[in-house]
Parts: sequence; structure tokens; C-alpha cells
Amino acid sequence: MKIAVVGTGYVGLVTGTCFAEVGIDVTCIDIDQKKIDNLHKGILPIYEPGLEEMVSRNVAANRLHFSTNIGEAIKDCDVAFIAVGTPPGEDGSADLKYVLAVARSIGENMTNYTVIVTKSTVPVGTAAKVRKEIEAALDKRGESIDFDVASNPEFLKEGAAIDDFLKPDRIVIGVASERAEEMMSRLYKPFLLNGHPIIFMDIPSAEMTKYAANSMLATKISFMNDIANLCEIMGADVNMVRKGIGSDARIGTKFIYPGIGYGGSCFPKDVKALIKTAAENGYEMQVLQAVEGVNEAQKEVLFSKVKKHFGGNLKGKKMAVWGLSFKPKTDDMREAPSLVIIEKLLAEGCTVSAYDPVAMPEAKHSLGDSITYAKDQFDALIDADALLVVTEWPEFRSPSFEVVGRLLKQKVIFDGRNIYDPIEMKEAGFAYHCIGIRTAH
Ligand code: NAD
Repeated sequence: MKIAVVGTGYVGLVTGTCFAEVGIDVTCIDIDQKKIDNLHKGILPIYEPGLEEMVSRNVAANRLHFSTNIGEAIKDCDVAFIAVGTPPGEDGSADLKYVLAVARSIGENMTNYTVIVTKSTVPVGTAAKVRKEIEAALDKRGESIDFDVASNPEFLKEGAAIDDFLKPDRIVIGVASERAEEMMSRLYKPFLLNGHPIIFMDIPSAEMTKYAANSMLATKISFMNDIANLCEIMGADVNMVRKGIGSDARIGTKFIYPGIGYGGSCFPKDVKALIKTAAENGYEMQVLQAVEGVNEAQKEVLFSKVKKHFGGNLKGKKMAVWGLSFKPKTDDMREAPSLVIIEKLLAEGCTVSAYDPVAMPEAKHSLGDSITYAKDQFDALIDADALLVVTEWPEFRSPSFEVVGRLLKQKVIFDGRNIYDPIEMKEAGFAYHCIGIRTAH
């Protein structure tokens, strides 16, 4: 089989590389010449554990190619994936201009029956728009080439993307013809060998499944943050409550960790887009509106604790920040809670010294020179008035607290991810603040 993957970001590059890994001939296409030039040199546009070796292995085997030329890539192709961004428009709806531009180029260049698959997260009805765009382009060429559209939302998690793709919990595919279903079954067969299920459904249901999944996960996070805030007011320990409810199989242990709010390129925009889709169709998503509201407020919780601890005056204080990416094991800074926290600290007259194992180059695009980027996690602490743990990278979990205490000017930790034990922190002489547990100082 020969496939094309258009859009070489977090989703497209992982998708293309994983298909090449199982022996398929893949061309990854991007509009960004620099990205493609770098990929030819073995330089990846993103950080994703294990991806670099996998890319170089498949390039060496001549199964994985990179190009900016969609015309060449789409020729004689069996399946073309659209994996470009769908950022939120000004009104919160998913902006489809990149998806539809790709659909047009596909229509302008296809030479044979192809299944055109939206892998980007797109609202219900987008596949129909993709079909129209392709038909219009074919009409313009005076050609009538048979094709199908399909929806194959992606559920990979940044930081664990390769495993998620190679060993998926499930593969969801929306199709409208047997021919497309047969083609997609053949393409995904290598991933199903160990019992990973493929779920075929109609296209609108597949499109909706992605939004419903992300909205459910965002709901779990906001729900737990709401409970955490109440625990703190009432003197309950949210860690205990989490364990207590998570042991109920109907609730489960995953995604019920309190923190400083969800971020990243998916949850915020997908929750917004679903609220918007509903509103456009005369329905109000009341739960999701609350999920969003709680999340916005939660991003400020850690900052409020800092301000309260220092008696309302942060002018001239130096804050050490551990972690910038929206979650560990990725360099993705989109909608990262760190940005909100740092912006607030700077506005209060603090200086900030931050360290992140991989996201500092990406963070510089939005934070520039407004903060100092430390050499390592301990360098960030020197002479700081407090440490804020913002992203729970594994290397932050068990530092030498003796060294941390020595380097900090004041032994104060604000833990936005609850990775330390309040009792141990107290015994080590730290003023320790976390989420959802009332700590005595
Ligand atoms: P990204 O921004 O990392 O990558 C998008 C790529 O598309 C960029 O490299 C851009 O240059 C390229 N592009 C834009 N227009 C193009 C065009 N006309 N032709 C060729 N290339 C073009 O985005 P991403 O994070 O990979 O997300 C892609 C889609 O997948 C989004 O809809 C997102 O919601 C969805 N998704 C993302 C994740 C994730 O974890 N990042 C997970 C599941 C689904």
C-alpha cells in the first residue's frame, strides 16, 4: 500500500512513521519547507520519546519519505490522511481552513481511487465538507475520479504517542462505503494482531467520538479540581478521597488527579469547539461550560497560594519554576498552565528562573527573555524565594530536599501537581503548599 499523510506535526509525523514501521510506503507532507528540510537532515520538529530512532530507521529502509510536494505524494496513493491543525477560531469553533485547503489540493492532484481520511479533530459534518471541496477541485479539472472520505480520529497522547499508535485501546473509523471500510481494515490490520479492536461506524459518529472522549477526560479533571478545592476548604485530603473513589471500578483510578488545570493543544480547544457546535445547533452544553470555567479558575490557584503566602506583596521576589510544558514528556507549550502562572508572577514584579527538561526552546517562542532559563533544575533554585512545581516531570519527583533547601533563599514549595508528601515536606522544614490538602505552616 502507498499512503500520504498531510501535516507533519505531533499527529501526522507519528501516524506516518508508525505506518512505515509496519512496512507501508509513506510520504509525509508539510507546507513548512524548513520542517521538511530538517526532517531530511534527521532533525524532528517535535519532541516525542522514541520517535527520532523510529524515523531514521524507516527513512533508511526507504519506506518513509518527506516532501512539500502534495502532487507527487498523492499520485497512485491508496489512502491520504489529513493531519493538519484545527486551531480554535475567534469564536471557539474549530478553524477548518487548513483541512479544507488540503482537501482542495488532494482534489487537484489525485490520479486514482483514494480514501481521504480526516485524522485531524474536526466537528461533525467536516467529512462532508471535505468531500465537496474535492468534488469541486475534480470538476474544475474536468475529471471524475472515484474516491471516498472517512473519519479516523486520533487518540494518541503526547509523550506516549508511539505506544498509543502501535498498541491502541481502539481504532475508530467512520466510513460511508464498503470499499472504504475494506481499505481501512487492510491498512490497520498490522495493528490489530494483538486484539486491539477496530470500531467501524458512520462518519458523523466517528467525528463526534473524538470530541466526546476529550470532553469526558476534561470533565474528569475539572470535577476533581472542584472536589480538591472543596477538600481544602473543609479540611479533607484530596489524595485520600481520590484513592477512595478511584477504587470503585465504575469511576476508575485514571484522570482523577487534581492539579492546576488542563492545557495542551487538545482539551481546551476541543471542549470549546463542542460547546460552540452545540450552541450553533440550538443546544447548551451546560456541563462543559462549567468544565471550562473550573479550568480557567484552576490555572490561577497556585499563583493565589503564592500571593497569600507572601502576604500579598511579591515585588522583587525571585520564583523558581520546575516544568513549563503542559504535561511531562512533551515540548508542547500550547495552552500550558505555566504560561498563565508565569505571566501573573511577572505582572506582580517577580523575576522567574525556570527549568524544563525539553520545552525551554519552545517556551522561548512565547516567553522570550521575560524569564531566565536555568541550566538544570537546581540552577533554577539559586537564591529563589520559593519553588513552584508546575509540570510533574519524573526527574522532579525525588530531588535531594537537603540540596533544594540549601539553594533556596526560603524553604517554600508550591506543588501544583501534588508530587510530594506533605508530612515529609513538613519534617524537612519546608513550608509546603499543594492542591486540595490543607497544609499547616
Ligand atoms: P501541529 O500543529 O503539530 O501540526 C500540524 C502541521 O500541519 C504543521 O506542521 C503545519 O505546518 C502543517 N500544515 C498546515 N497546513 C498545511 C497544508 N495546507 N499542507 C501541509 N501541511 C500543512 O498539529 P497536531 O498537534 O499534530 O494536531 C493535528 C490535528 O490532530 C489537530 O486537529 C489536533 O486537534 C488533532 N490531534 C492532536 C493530538 C495531539 O496530541 N497533538 C492528538 C489527537 C488529535
